[in-house]
Amino acid sequence: MRTVEEHAVVIAGLLIPTPTEMLPLADAVGLVLTDDLIATIDLPPFANSAMDGYAVMAKDVRQLPVTLPVSQDIPAGRTDTGPLAPGTAARIMTGAPMPPGADTIVQVERTDGGVSAVRIDSAPGPGVHLRTRGEDVLTGAVVLAAGTVIGPPQIGVAAALGFAELPVRRPLRVLVLSTGTELVEPGKPLGPGQIYESNAPMLAAGITAIGANATVEHFVADDVDQLRQALYRAAEHVDLIVTSGGVSAGAYEVVKDALTGRGIEFAKVAMQPGMPQGAGRYAVAGDRSVPIVTLPGNPVSSYVSFEVFLRPAIRAAMGHPDITRPIVRVPLTTSIDSPAGKRQFRRGHLDTVAGTVAPWGGPGSHLLSWLAGADCMIVIAEDDTHLEAGAEVEVWLLG
Ligand code: AMP
Ligand code: MG
Repeated sequence: MRTVEEHAVVIAGLLIPTPTEMLPLADAVGLVLTDDLIATIDLPPFANSAMDGYAVMAKDVRQLPVTLPVSQDIPAGRTDTGPLAPGTAARIMTGAPMPPGADTIVQVERTDGGVSAVRIDSAPGPGVHLRTRGEDVLTGAVVLAAGTVIGPPQIGVAAALGFAELPVRRPLRVLVLSTGTELVEPGKPLGPGQIYESNAPMLAAGITAIGANATVEHFVADDVDQLRQALYRAAEHVDLIVTSGGVSAGAYEVVKDALTGRGIEFAKVAMQPGMPQGAGRYAVAGDRSVPIVTLPGNPVSSYVSFEVFLRPAIRAAMGHPDITRPIVRVPLTTSIDSPAGKRQFRRGHLDTVAGTVAPWGGPGSHLLSWLAGADCMIVIAEDDTHLEAGAEVEVWLLG
């Protein structure tokens, strides 16, 4: 039997880093920047007002109250602003360029709001409500370092600096292919002996959630030729194929039957759920091959295998600095039994106030609704067969 770590190394070794691509901002969310982003303009690009009010010279508002003629009106976006005449005020809006010569912004609330002349009752010091040029970013500064994960604020600053595209590690393209003659597509009528296909949508969602690109091939019947044809069709367009089902010890194990001797190693991994696993480079034709990971068919096994092996490997290939889920160690609320010699991954519910974790449902690998109700996985080491309430366990936060 393989250890979890041994199998994880095999899977990680199948994937190479995805290449850099220039992607539009909207497509870069969740991806990793491959080059430093260097500002080519100052931010703000010009000195402007932080308030609606009046731009004046400090010397003209030393004696208060004072009434000044309004010499110009400057809304945001005005580009022909002239210098401020001494002894006058310019009515100015938030984001509008400061007229040269003005050094003080008096908010409209401190005035009578006049249009041709304004009475100023009080005034802040010079520079208070003024945004200076380059105060946020100076031209030439590294605004986002290579390796940054692009989220909404990073999109915001890139857009503010005028970038429409970003160089990022492109999404890994993954085909999810589930097998099983008993499977029926959700939305269609269910016949006797049939169940709805849930692994492909679940795995595809897990893949999409980490910024990779998932396509789903409608489940393939337990037929070796049909499976090989599906793999052949897909191999050209994807970086990785993930199958579910057909790898355990029974008869009609279509994935095992179709892939044995074609570059895939099937192994038992010392874990529960998820013991039957397979991985390798599938020889498509000639010297062409594509990485394949074959997951077990039981829905919870399939998902746990994704969390343990695929999610970190895909994140690593896409350049993510942190590839694992956040991990905490907290005490159990109740006792847990676990098989000897296997690492058990149980569904859990974390009480963030009490700082404890409760097992959520039993260990059965068909208990999908309990997986859906869980917010974490509890990891029980190979050597632990029984843990009492209060024992500290490793917990992976699913989010
Ligand atoms: P297998 O690994 O193909 O022997 O499947 C193990 C168990 O998981 C069987 O009960 C299957 O019906 C079920 N199963 C396999 N694939 C799926 C799937 N894509 N969606 C839901 N259940 C599945
Ligand atoms: Mg099957």
